[in-house]
Amino acid sequence: MELLKEKIRQEGKVLSEEVLKVDSFLNHQIDPVLMQEIGKEFVSRFSDQQITKIVTIESSGIAPATMAGLLLGVPVVFARKRKSLTLTDHLYSAKVHSFTKGETNDISVSKDFISSADTVLLIDDFLANGQAALGLIEIVKQAGAQLAGVGIVIEKSFQPGGKMMRTSGIRVESLAEVQSLANGKVQFVGEENL
Ligand code: 5GP
Repeated sequence: MELLKEKIRQEGKVLSEEVLKVDSFLNHQIDPVLMQEIGKEFVSRFSDQQITKIVTIESSGIAPATMAGLLLGVPVVFARKRKSLTLTDHLYSAKVHSFTKGETNDISVSKDFISSADTVLLIDDFLANGQAALGLIEIVKQAGAQLAGVGIVIEKSFQPGGKMMRTSGIRVESLAEVQSLANGKVQFVGEENL
């Protein structure tokens, strides 16, 4: 998605060879117009699926997921990273090791909001080692729902998550694929020789 790549080129900050900061439009401040375009792109890429629900993880997946949900006219559910004190039972839950924080959290979703009747599109902001996505997939499995696929805003293709999921037959659609963050530069897949 060219508009997204241009935004990353202009505003993305390479924090290390492994971490890209996009706080100005996705992870802290949000660019709603760009989010709307991202929502449209996800909807178009998964237009062959009868999606009934979008599932994401708090907090940075919520903006792109909500835009896609608005366009599809389906609810958006976000997995919580901390268990609510009032909701300890009646949950689907999975363990997720956080790439950026280096800690393992339980993520959970109320059983009220995903059922075996659902076809779920998972959406997240970044794909690195695939732990967040695998945790969400585990929750979809616990619910007995169908998985339409995984929509990712920025995939870091030099990390193993995308390959691991595609190899196991999961459909992954990423709107920007980063080949490398070496030398403080964002290089996208397919732009190796530019
Ligand atoms: P994974 O579970 O695939 O290893 O990592 C994905 C999660 O870690 C995403 O939900 C995202 O919040 C965070 N993450 C991974 N890599 C980056 C990165 O380079 N920049 C930012 N801002 N977040 C990242």
